[in-house]
Order: sequence, then structure tokens, then C-alpha cells
Amino acid sequence: MLYNSTENRNEVVSASQSIAQGISKDGGLFVPQSLPEYDIKTLKNMLSLDYKGIAKKVFSDFLSDFTAEEINECVEKAYTVEKFGGENPAPLSFKKYNGNDVNILELWHGPTCAFKDMALQILPHLLTKSLKKTNDGKDAVILVATSGDTGKAALEGFKDVEHTKIIVFYPELGVSPMQKRQMNTQEGENVRVCAIEGNFDDAQTGVKKIFTTPEISDILEKNNMMFSSANSINWGRLLPQIVYYIASYLDMVNSGKIALGDKINVVVPTGNFGNILASYYAFCMGLPINKFICASNSNNVLTDFISTGVYDKNRQFYTTISPSMDILVSSNLERLLYKLSGDNDEITKEWMTQLKTVGKYEVTPEVRDAVSKLFYGGFCDDAQTKETIAKMYREENYLCDTHTAVAVSVYDKYVSETGDKTPTVIASTASPYKFSKAVLSAVSEGKELPESEFDMVDLLNKITGVEIPAPLASLKDKKSRFSDVVKTNEMPDYVLGALGVK
Ligand SMILES: *Cc1c(COP(=O)(O)O)cnc(C)c1O
Repeated sequence: MLYNSTENRNEVVSASQSIAQGISKDGGLFVPQSLPEYDIKTLKNMLSLDYKGIAKKVFSDFLSDFTAEEINECVEKAYTVEKFGGENPAPLSFKKYNGNDVNILELWHGPTCAFKDMALQILPHLLTKSLKKTNDGKDAVILVATSGDTGKAALEGFKDVEHTKIIVFYPELGVSPMQKRQMNTQEGENVRVCAIEGNFDDAQTGVKKIFTTPEISDILEKNNMMFSSANSINWGRLLPQIVYYIASYLDMVNSGKIALGDKINVVVPTGNFGNILASYYAFCMGLPINKFICASNSNNVLTDFISTGVYDKNRQFYTTISPSMDILVSSNLERLLYKLSGDNDEITKEWMTQLKTVGKYEVTPEVRDAVSKLFYGGFCDDAQTKETIAKMYREENYLCDTHTAVAVSVYDKYVSETGDKTPTVIASTASPYKFSKAVLSAVSEGKELPESEFDMVDLLNKITGVEIPAPLASLKDKKSRFSDVVKTNEMPDYVLGALGVK
């Protein structure tokens, strides 16, 4: 299977090249030229596989220049019981909300307590193997822009991985105290963490610019290094996410919630559009999905896009209690538009250029209709997010984080608007303890909150009895290692300095 850039169909690379490089030189994103087809018979044969077995099957269908042994090794090393706390790294929790079944796909049992671990525990293995195949002896420099969770998950995945260095940029005021602490206490000899004055979009634009500046790439080349990406612009991030949508569907069948072949809806709390896009690829492969429910917070640029076909990032940016979705430029939408426009690289490039220059584009009526047929967009604000956490906790004794609550709230709206009772899987993307302050204030009914983050964690545990994940509990006693803050225009200099090649 070969991959090409969404902005230039003639830029064709192998699977390992797409992973090693991360992003195409022209700024486009790598996409597979065709998708494997999973018909009902294929899915039936997969019913008896465990998570690792499903992962191996999916990876081998996409990574055609990897051997079975290589894929085996990557999967076995990534999804261990030790790292994910159980044989199934992505279990379903069957709950009810407002009288409707909600099947919550818990994607946060990994080492950093957010769904990013599902991909970032395996990406370093995929990347080091890709580098061996494609880049004779060069070290990979992983540049990351994070809205909070990717940064930590990437640091944890890449720490002390041979022939890699990792530099993470996060918005100084745009992450939760727990997220900041997770990153600033990161161990490892090959890691750097730096805050920027700006929001996530500024960080992402800055990183993309560094990637596509030839002068900087030349300096790295001379020093036997190359850039790569651990953001969801890297195909190696998306592929592992396809796996859990297929696995959750098979779990729904195995637990008798649906029959094989029945359709499900999926609900995904969305920021950069990576997670929901993975479910769309699973659908294109043959997974029976009826609707993709794209849940946003007050930064509802996607809600508007889905209903109008106009993407317009020129709007107020809100800092919310679901910070990992505080994003106005959803990078992976580019891959959806490329697919829905019939693999049209020219028009995709045109839209992305308009986004860069005027911050806005309008897709064709055909693409708009294709989007609104498959996708439903909705959003909720912070108050509704907290109400949802409180109600879920009251009714089901189930504690969900702020991002998951946005998804549950939007799903509730969707059901009351449409009456659609198709069985539904809701992606739960983080542990509630990553966002203790907001979660605590939602369930403690107006009581005064303690000041320190870890006192809030303890109080939340005391009130709810929900176990504190060990990786978060242990942060309390760790020393902070990083405190750099730079302006966005200083990012290139910072990178060269950190690499010692200025
Ligand atoms: C990253 C993240 C999201 C958004 O996922 P995208 O793939 O960027 O759409 C949602 N919730 C949490 C907790 C996250 O960390």
C-alpha cells in the first residue's frame, strides 16, 4: 500500500516513509491510496481476536513494507497489561444517560491517562522501524504542538528511545495544571518541554512552519538529523486509532448489544479531528457505522462547518474546561475533505491555502452534502459540561472527564433532536483526574474547593471513591525540570538551540 499527499497526488511514499517523515514536504498530509475492505465475513473472523490480535490484523493491512514479525513486536511492546492495566486496553463501560444506553469506550487506561496513549505507545516502535527502512542512520527530531495531552503522551512514548529527540511546545495558559505538571516533570535524556505565548493553534502553526522551512531542514540534514511528527498529522498516529473503533464494534457484538452487521453511531469529542477521522476510515473499510457525531466545546468551528460547509476560523477563541478541544484549526479535516472530494488534491490545496491566507473557505455543495449526510455536529458550553458530569455521576455513579462530558451532552442533544436510537459508542478520552478542578466543582455542589491541584485530586477521590490513576498520583513528589517560555517567532531558534546546532 502506498500513500500520497493530500495536496499533491504525485508525491507518493511508502508506509514507512509516511511515518518517518510525518508530513509531506508540500505541507499536505499523507493518506493511503486505497483502503483494505473488511466485509462482514472478515469482521466475523475477527470476533475471536483480542485487542492485540485485531491491531496486528489492521496494521498488517496498512503497513505493507513491514514484516509480520516487525508488526508483532510493535504491538506486543505497546499494549501491555503493565501499561494499560488490563488485557483490553480500551474497554467498554455500559451506562445509561437520560434514559438512553451509552456505551462508553474508555481510551484512557494508558500511562498518561488520555486516549493519545493508544497511538503514542506504539508510534515510537513504528517510527524507529520506519527510520531504519528509510533514513540511513539519521536521528529523528520529533516536534510536537500540544493542547495538553499529546505532549505528555508523546514524551512518555519517546523518552530515551534511541535515535530520537523530542521537543514539545504547549500554550502557556491553555493547559490544565495537571497537564502542565505531567509535562514539566518528564524524565528522559532526549526530551525538552517549552511553553509558548499563544494558544494551541499558534503552537501548531509554529511547528508546521518549522517543518516546512527548507533552511532549517538543511541544518538538520547537515547534522545527520531529520524532523518527524507525533501529532495526528502523522499517519502513524491515526492508524492505531482505527483499531479501537473496530475492536469496540466487535465488543458490542460479543456482548450481545448488537448483532454482527448492525450499524452503530459513534460520538467523539473533537479537537484536531484525528480521533473522529479514524472512525470514518474504519467506516470506509466496511465497519457498519450510521452517523458520526462530532462533539465540540464553545470553540464550535466544526459544528458550523458541518451544517453550512463554510469553515471559518475568524472567531473568538475560548479557553474552556475541556482544553484539549480548544482548537480552531482542525488539521485532520483536510484528510476528510480530500476523500470526500474524490481524492482531489488541487481543490484540497486551494481550501487549505485559503485557510492559511484568509482563515476561511467554503467547500463545494457536493462535499457539503456528503459531510452533512454522515456527520452531525453539536457543541456545549462549560456549564452544560459540568451539568453532564454531575448528572452522570448522580444517576450512574460514573465519573467522566470534561471532554467525555461534552460528547455525552452533545449525544443527548442529538437523540432528542432526531429520535435516532441506533446503539452508540461514545469515545471517552481522558481520566477525570486530569481535569480535577472542573470535575470536582461539578460533583461537589458549590462547596469551597481547596487551592492546590493535589488537594483537589484527593478530595475528588474522597467524595467519589474513584481510584486515582497511579501515574497521576506519583506526580505529587516529582521535581519540575522545565520552565522555558518563548514567543512563537522564537520557536525555530529554540529548536536549533535545544538540538545544539544553532
Ligand atoms: C486530543 C484530545 C481530544 C481531541 O482529539 P482530536 O483527535 O484532536 O480530535 C479530545 N479529548 C481529549 C482528552 C484529548 O486529549
